[in-house]
Amino acid sequence: MILRSELLSARKVRHGFSTRIGGVSQGPFATLNVAVGPGDEPAAVTENLRRFAAMIEVDPERLYQTSQVHGSDVRAIEPGDVRLEVLHEHADALVAHDPSTAIGIRVADCVPVLLHEGKTGVVAAVHAGWRGVVGGVVQAALAQLAIRARGSRDIVAAIGPSIGPCCFEVGEEVASAILDAAPADGVVLRDRPRPHVDLRRAVRLQLLALGVADANIEDVPGCTKCDAERFFSHRRDGARSGRLIAAIAP
Ligand SMILES: [Zn+2]
Repeated sequence: MILRSELLSARKVRHGFSTRIGGVSQGPFATLNVAVGPGDEPAAVTENLRRFAAMIEVDPERLYQTSQVHGSDVRAIEPGDVRLEVLHEHADALVAHDPSTAIGIRVADCVPVLLHEGKTGVVAAVHAGWRGVVGGVVQAALAQLAIRARGSRDIVAAIGPSIGPCCFEVGEEVASAILDAAPADGVVLRDRPRPHVDLRRAVRLQLLALGVADANIEDVPGCTKCDAERFFSHRRDGARSGRLIAAIAP
């Protein structure tokens, strides 16, 4: 029902990547959809979030999310912030330091990244689609995390289920932009008629370039488009795709 990172679990960090299993939504949103935007029943989404929060042992009333716009703004959460106000603010990454709070981002093919700084317990959650990868959302989130961790960089990163290189076909302009943002072999694959992108590899390369140790970066596997049993996928399901959540608590 929920996927976890071994590295974050070893640090006893409360976190999880949801699957579509274990909720109450119907039809295209079956069953654990966490977004009302695509047209699901608000009561079902509230119940799904309550169940997910229980699974990762956080208070759903203290689980902060933002309005995601494929940008690179980072919202730092303070204990006094009003959850429903933050939900309407535009940001694609959150950081948090207070154990009474938790933060989450929603995905349906984009790459979810959860980060934890070991000395201070500061955490970050990042929504990294290709626009975010190109726009620097990973760098922006890590910079805010480092500020709140007062320079300590004992960072673990978990990269969650997302559309894989098996399925993420793009045009030449997108391929070129991504390669500029993460210039290395294996990011853009040219073994088929049109380019395919390994976006998780691009995120890993960006983390490595920022000084996160390779051994501290974990892939929590799964292709959202291939695996319709476990995941929602915007590419596969279109506008009425459900959304998954990745969340973490300080
Ligand atoms: Zn796939």
